[in-house]
This record gives sequence, structure tokens and C-alpha cells, in this order.
Amino acid sequence: MAETVLFLANTEADGTLGRIALEALAVAKSLGGTLIAGLIGGAVQPAADSIASSGASRILAVAGEAFAESRYATDAAAAEALAKAVQATIVVAPHISRFARCMAGVAQRLGGRIDTHVTSVVTGPQITRWYYRQRMEAVLKRTQRPWIILVESGIVPAWEGPAGTATVEMIAVEAATRSRVIGRQSPQTGQQTIRPDAKLLFVAGAGWTRKQADGKPHIDDAARLILGFLRGSEASLGSSKSLVDLSGEGQAVLPFLSHMNQVGQTGSTPRHPKGLATCCHGEEPHVVGWRFIRERRAVNLDPNCGWTRGKADVVYVADAFAVMERVNAMLAERSAARRAEA
Ligand SMILES: Cc1cc2nc3c(=O)[nH]c(=O)nc-3n(C[C@H](O)[C@H](O)[C@H](O)COP(=O)(O)OP(=O)(O)OC[C@H]3O[C@@H](n4cnc5c(N)ncnc54)[C@H](O)[C@@H]3O)c2cc1C
Repeated sequence: MAETVLFLANTEADGTLGRIALEALAVAKSLGGTLIAGLIGGAVQPAADSIASSGASRILAVAGEAFAESRYATDAAAAEALAKAVQATIVVAPHISRFARCMAGVAQRLGGRIDTHVTSVVTGPQITRWYYRQRMEAVLKRTQRPWIILVESGIVPAWEGPAGTATVEMIAVEAATRSRVIGRQSPQTGQQTIRPDAKLLFVAGAGWTRKQADGKPHIDDAARLILGFLRGSEASLGSSKSLVDLSGEGQAVLPFLSHMNQVGQTGSTPRHPKGLATCCHGEEPHVVGWRFIRERRAVNLDPNCGWTRGKADVVYVADAFAVMERVNAMLAERSAARRAEA
């Protein structure tokens, strides 16, 4: 059966499409059938122009101030209207919190089905996704239509192509909602440490807060070294469960960490190209937390740390305080040299 594939994405504040949306476009395109783009956002023309050469036969949008913010009622109404307008049989959208929140409801309204956290889509179409915290992989296909597929980030290269001038078909949707967005509250105050687009995931373990060779913990040094490295490398910060749990036990903690940073079985499984684990022993961060990281290294004092040895490509048996002090100094030298060149 020839599918009508709706690529669905929200636009950023400046009206463009983010990398994860362009990855979902690449997935939608790979399915064959008739490709149609559906955009939701405050402004949509820059996004439409950027995908003018994508092969989408039509570009539709639900746009306006009410659709700029992520909100269940408006996002669900917009997605439903777009899917109905083109009679989509398959809807491909990025698995971001915005769509994860509303698309199950949209599937219900359309009488369709939804699969989330999808890690590959191949012609057929068939999808793969993981169960039981990334320990079992399933291959699924469905006969029910429409079929909504939310694809994880980092599973395919983002679609690239020349921009053009696109004609956008605007779909009018009534923004009926009682919810008003009055601001944003983030669990991380001050420091932005979770960066899904970063090339490197830096995993901090509880070793950073343990007594060191002199018999004392060095929390301030740990905080300075970790934040200094994040600043210098623009890495994203992941953490073991033990480290983020410490705050609940009244122990000295790294104030910029929360459970949002936790990787592993009960945390997240990010998809950065590279990972560096430091002062970290646990099975879950090494086996589950960074299983999708392609190149993995670790720094640990313990040469017998089985999880580090078993799951990292390279293990540096060394004091992470000393290693990161040196790495930060090298990063500072590099950025000074770049500034001098500029
Ligand atoms: C049901 C369940 C679910 C769980 N889910 C998760 C999860 O999602 N994520 C998770 O992380 N954990 C999870 N855990 C906990 C997990 O089993 C481990 O207890 C935890 O990951 C250990 O954290 P850690 O490696 O940071 O600390 P530790 O085990 O205390 O290891 C600290 C490490 O730091 C090293 N170290 C100390 N000082 C230095 C130094 N100066 N330089 C270099 N290395 C140094 C030590 O050698 C040691 O290896 C779960 C447990 C259960 C039971």
C-alpha cells in the first residue's frame, strides 16, 4: 500500500527547524510513499524554506502565537488537524518532550496507533524500539493506520539540502485552551549542563565526592574541575545515580546536579557520539546509560573496576582530579591560541 507520510515538526523560536526535526525528516523521507511536511509553531516560513528541496510534495502549517509554546491542547489540536488535512497513513515526528506529551492523545483522536522511542525505521515499514530499559530490542510492524512514529535523536544523520522558497498551506485551528504559559522553570538553576546536541557526554560518578588520598573529600575542586571542563569542551553532563542521590542523604553534593542528569537503567540513555566517564564504577551507567555512545573512555583509580574495563574502549587508570586539571589546562591553552589567531 502506498503510504502518505506526514513529517511533523515544531519550529524553534526563530522559525527554523532544529537538528532533531531534520533527523526525523530524513527518517520520513526514507520510507518512500508520498511525503508531506506539517509544521507547528509561532513562525514557520524559515522552516518551510529550509526544507523546500526535501521532496515534500506539500508543506502545511498551523502557525501563530498560540502554537509557539509547547502545550498539550494546542499541540494536539494542531497535529490532529494536519494529519486529517492530508489523510496521513504514517506520521513521523521527533521524540522530544513536546511530541511525547501530546501524540498519544492525537493517535486516540485519529483512531490510530503510536510507537514512541523508535530507534530505526525501515521500508515495510518496520520499526525497532527497546524495552525493559534498553535490554531487549523488538522489531514491530502494524497494519493499523494512521501510525504515529516518534523517532529518537541520533539514529540517522539530519536531512541536508539547499533552501528555497516554499509555499505553505496554512491550516486554521482554533487555539481553545485554558492553559496559559506564564514562564519556564528548570530544575537546573544557573548552569545549563544537559546539552543533547553536544558531541561528548561527560559522566560524573560518586567518586568525585569520596575521600581522596589525603583522607578528605574535595567537593569544591570537583565542582570547579567538572564545570571548567563543561565550559571548555561544551560537553553534556551525565551522572551516576549514587552521585545525584547523595543530596537526599544529607551528604556534601555537587549543587549543579539533579536527577535530570542521571544516566542508566533508571535514568536516561543519551546518544552523544563520544562519552567520558570519570570516578564512576556502576553497572547501570556503563552498561545501560551509555550503550548508544559510540566511543567510550573512562578514568578510574581502580584498575579492577569491571564495568569500566568491560564497557569502555579505553580506560585511563588515573586520578580524575589530576587528569581533568590537566585536560582543563589544555582546553584553556587551546582557546587562548584560537583567540590569538582571531
Ligand atoms: C534497580 C536499580 C536501578 C539503578 N539504576 C541506576 C541508574 O539508572 N544509573 C546509575 O548510575 N546507577 C543506578 N543504580 C545504582 C548502581 O547500581 C550503582 O550503585 C551506581 O551507579 C554507582 O555509582 P558510582 O559509580 O558513581 O559510585 P561508586 O560505586 O561509589 O564508584 C565510585 C568510583 O569512583 C572511583 N574514584 C574515586 N576517586 C577517584 C579519583 N580520584 N579518580 C578516579 N576515580 C576515582 C572509584 O574507584 C570508584 O570506582 C541502580 C541500582 C538499582 C538497584
